Amino acid sequence: VEHLLGRVNDQRSLGAFLHVDAEGARAAARAADAARAAGQAGPLTGVPIAHKDIFVTKGQPSTAGSKMLEGYASPFDATVVARLNQAGTVSLGKLNCDEFAMGSANENSAYGPVKNPWDVTRVPGGSSGGSAAAVAARLVPAATGTDTGGSIRQPASFTGITGIKPTYGVCSRYGMIAFASSLDQAGPMARSAEDCALLLSAMSGFDERDATSVQRPPQDFHAEMLKPRAGATAAKPLQGLRIGLPKEFFPAALAADVNGALRAALAEFEKLGATLVDVSLPRTELSIPVYYIIAPAEASSNLSRFDGVRYGHRAKQHGDLLDMYKKTRSEAFGAEVKRRIMIGTYVLSHGYYDAYYLQAQKLRRMIADDFQACFQACDVIAGPVAPTVAWKLGEQGDDPVKAYLADIFTLPGSLAGLPGMSIPAGFGEAHMPVGLQLLGNYFAEGQLLQAAHAFQ
Ligand code: GLN
Repeated sequence: VEHLLGRVNDQRSLGAFLHVDAEGARAAARAADAARAAGQAGPLTGVPIAHKDIFVTKGQPSTAGSKMLEGYASPFDATVVARLNQAGTVSLGKLNCDEFAMGSANENSAYGPVKNPWDVTRVPGGSSGGSAAAVAARLVPAATGTDTGGSIRQPASFTGITGIKPTYGVCSRYGMIAFASSLDQAGPMARSAEDCALLLSAMSGFDERDATSVQRPPQDFHAEMLKPRAGATAAKPLQGLRIGLPKEFFPAALAADVNGALRAALAEFEKLGATLVDVSLPRTELSIPVYYIIAPAEASSNLSRFDGVRYGHRAKQHGDLLDMYKKTRSEAFGAEVKRRIMIGTYVLSHGYYDAYYLQAQKLRRMIADDFQACFQACDVIAGPVAPTVAWKLGEQGDDPVKAYLADIFTLPGSLAGLPGMSIPAGFGEAHMPVGLQLLGNYFAEGQLLQAAHAFQ
């Protein structure tokens, strides 16, 4: 813990941490030592981690990367945080992210961007950019992230680490500051599938305080990961695994370096005993407009709670109550958050609801059905996480649509609520990491982790 606190301090210019809790970490480390001395150590006892600042934490700031929550102190810990504390992990603090998790480059944080440790002129991805950079720069061996439309998988891909977004409902959303509630999921980001499996086992499980939490018995993802497949051998641990390659995930526009790294990784999977099969997700392109209607609609509703009365910022100078709301929200929300509140309010408004929101919901169902058709022919789906390697800081300028289009490969799985991973596949342009995305059917996290572990 002391060593890593030193590294965190040395690497401040990365912008990964928003808050360092050195005293809290030392106290937790002493408690972990005591547990170990008493013979009560588990696999995560004393493991240093840090939390995306979208999870509320007692005794530490919780900002969601927004000025709106500057100075806000939560009276409780998010369930994911509480469970990881319970498992003996030692939190070093809170990690930078896009404001309310809206973004793909961590450039929408009110507290400044995060730099990619592989090349500090490039973005680390987003919205869990602080988590990805912290793990990639070896500031912590693991971190929590959240994924609404790709925010665990894409930064993991851009920084050469492993991340998993479980099936919607596997991790509790209690205490996770809401962006789009029907999509938001927590998950671990770490150096390997094995580390992710250990963390996910501790983070997940039913929570009566989240109405969408899935009622399943606690799962040991590490044991599921290691369970040998029928017919597997040491040389061919993935014997019989059918990996589906949706043709829409390998379009001509996919960057050649990304395609090259993915094809090489897939050839490795074949050597491990897997077979590659062609499948199709015909509505892949539609996932962009569908997501960018549904997610802002839910965000506009969720963010209405930030009214200057109940949480965080309140405008100092204001007239009546309505004026106070207006000034508070104008001052404290960033441009991307305002854009999404406006889009969301528009698509939900009387007269447009049927034309946009309802259509998007219908398409969302069809996208989910397309996956079920694929899973008739394959066990897992593989493809890119993002169309390119990490881009340069500031490169996208003021064009939000550019960033939205780059979400094309992560959004379909999110809309369907499926589990998804990013694992390092190789390197592309300028020696930047390329991630391979693996998507599984509902509750098939064990299978994804097994495939990733065999490959790693
Ligand atoms: N890039 C997507 C967005 O901006 C996804 C973000 C996320 O998963 N939180 O909405």
